[in-house]
Amino acid sequence: MKNIYLDNAATTRVAPEVLNVMIPYFIKIYGNPSEYHKMGMDSRKAIEEARGKIAGFLGTKAETIIFTSCATESINLSHKGLIEAMGNKFPRKVRPHIITSSVEHKAVLETCHSLERKGKASITYLPVDRFGRVEVESVEQAVSRDTVLISIMYVNNEVGTIQPINEIGQLVQRLNQNRKNPVYYHTDATQALGFLDCNVDNLGVDLLSFTGHKINAPKGIGVLYIREGVEIKRQIDGGNQEKRLRAGTENTPYIVGLAKAVELVNIRKNNKVRKLTSFRNILIKELLKIPGVKLTGDPEKRVPHIVSVIVNGVEGEGAVLYLSELGIYASSGSACTSTDLAASHVLTAMGYSESESHGSIRFSMCDKTKKQDINYLVSEFPKVVEKLRKMNPIYNEK
Ligand code: PLP
Repeated sequence: MKNIYLDNAATTRVAPEVLNVMIPYFIKIYGNPSEYHKMGMDSRKAIEEARGKIAGFLGTKAETIIFTSCATESINLSHKGLIEAMGNKFPRKVRPHIITSSVEHKAVLETCHSLERKGKASITYLPVDRFGRVEVESVEQAVSRDTVLISIMYVNNEVGTIQPINEIGQLVQRLNQNRKNPVYYHTDATQALGFLDCNVDNLGVDLLSFTGHKINAPKGIGVLYIREGVEIKRQIDGGNQEKRLRAGTENTPYIVGLAKAVELVNIRKNNKVRKLTSFRNILIKELLKIPGVKLTGDPEKRVPHIVSVIVNGVEGEGAVLYLSELGIYASSGSACTSTDLAASHVLTAMGYSESESHGSIRFSMCDKTKKQDINYLVSEFPKVVEKLRKMNPIYNEK
């Protein structure tokens, strides 16, 4: 059977180069990096080298990089940590204000909901246009005296739309010139890291989160960049690791692996972008030939690796199962939401109806994706659509 993995926005394979650099830190140099013996110090040295490489990639200093277990943890640390650090600077009845978008990953949305439920912050969830883009003007209009944080994702994981991150960064810089208390700016760069410029100064961000498992490092390692001078209160109590911002023994092999994955992104990015942009365009063109198929997300401002469509008369989950039998692995939306059958909050925020949202299918490629894989998909997909439509009495009645 074929084995065509087109779900790289959910997670990626670990690159052999990454695995190779990790192995010695499991079996040879496994000392606790907080210890002063040679094995501990070798482990510490590897962590600090990795931190330096990742900082270099983001155009920042090593001290601004905090290792966590995943993007979700980085985002929790950023948002909850900032609000807690701010808390006592606000008069008792005033809550710090966060601006975010309605199409963020649950890692951001649920963190904001939690702060809201506990009465620690008030949140504005900005609407998006039909393509899933936040308007810079709507960010500006939402800013109030109490705003402390703007958190807008770089790339949407369900539809691949790129947000105007630089423009919002410029807005924040302009606003901060006339404010007593600065507004901080966070981006969830999880889906952008492998493809777009992530230099924190170019973007104008104060906080940036990402995870290793979307760029060929293992699951279980993430990063939070914190600009110098931004105060964050730690969310895990314990030892003094990670500048006292994230207690717990550092995961040396995963940290070393992440640095290697970032290095590979740097080396391979240009070729990958070129190749996947061409595949993406072919795939979109072919899929749109099927009657009743609509592209979701921005037609132009989108990452090269994600193609997402809505297919009328088809349940996304059904299509995923049929494709899986053919050896093609896709997703009916975000991996984290596809286990519950609620309509995608991203698509409904973009103005699609609940029933349209249920027909959503996402294909996401990687540098190993081959032209033949795309050809096979476009030859098989119309048959899957036809089969599923035949089984749908409502569609046939229409
Ligand atoms: N943010 C975005 C945009 C994502 O796509 C994901 C993963 O699907 C996450 C955050 C969460 O990443 P992690 O699973 O590493 O916490």
